[in-house]
Amino acid sequence: MECKLFVARLMSPIGQITIESCMRGVHKVDLQEPKNFSPDSRYEVELVDGSAEELVNKCEPLGKCVDWIKDYFKDASSVRGLSKPPLHITKYKEGSFTAAVLHNLATKVDVGETVSYGQLATMTGNARASRAVGGAMRANQTPLLVPCHRVVNSDGSVGNFMSGKGNVLKEWLLQHEVKER
Ligand SMILES: [Zn+2]
Repeated sequence: MECKLFVARLMSPIGQITIESCMRGVHKVDLQEPKNFSPDSRYEVELVDGSAEELVNKCEPLGKCVDWIKDYFKDASSVRGLSKPPLHITKYKEGSFTAAVLHNLATKVDVGETVSYGQLATMTGNARASRAVGGAMRANQTPLLVPCHRVVNSDGSVGNFMSGKGNVLKEWLLQHEVKER
């Protein structure tokens, strides 16, 4: 059965973010490709159209996701340890290696932390699968919520994000998460 999808568009310090969600959970978080990237952390997250209350009434997971993203950009440490909006992922199979990698990442690597591709492979029970971990990152439909930006190279360099097009954004997000408030 096809899910009925609701959409919210947000302006954020890192540009426009589009969220798609059904009643079961968030399907997709789309980040704008950071061309001429000029982030402004003082910028409050705002809905492009409609109100957050309207969204919550229409589609609860979507409203929750909007709230989570607002809090995340205002003060990333405020969402540390908190539960996230539910996801409804249809892109990869439940029980697959990709699903396990992304689940571990979402539940074990919190705000302000990083993990290497190899460490995440080990956490998922296959220490030699760091290349497959890279593949799982590319399959991630819900960046920020499933924090693929926290997966870095073992030499400490940030590594690729959005197939290499979002590396500056990745660096900015990691900085944002450890910033003192
Ligand atoms: Zn759905």
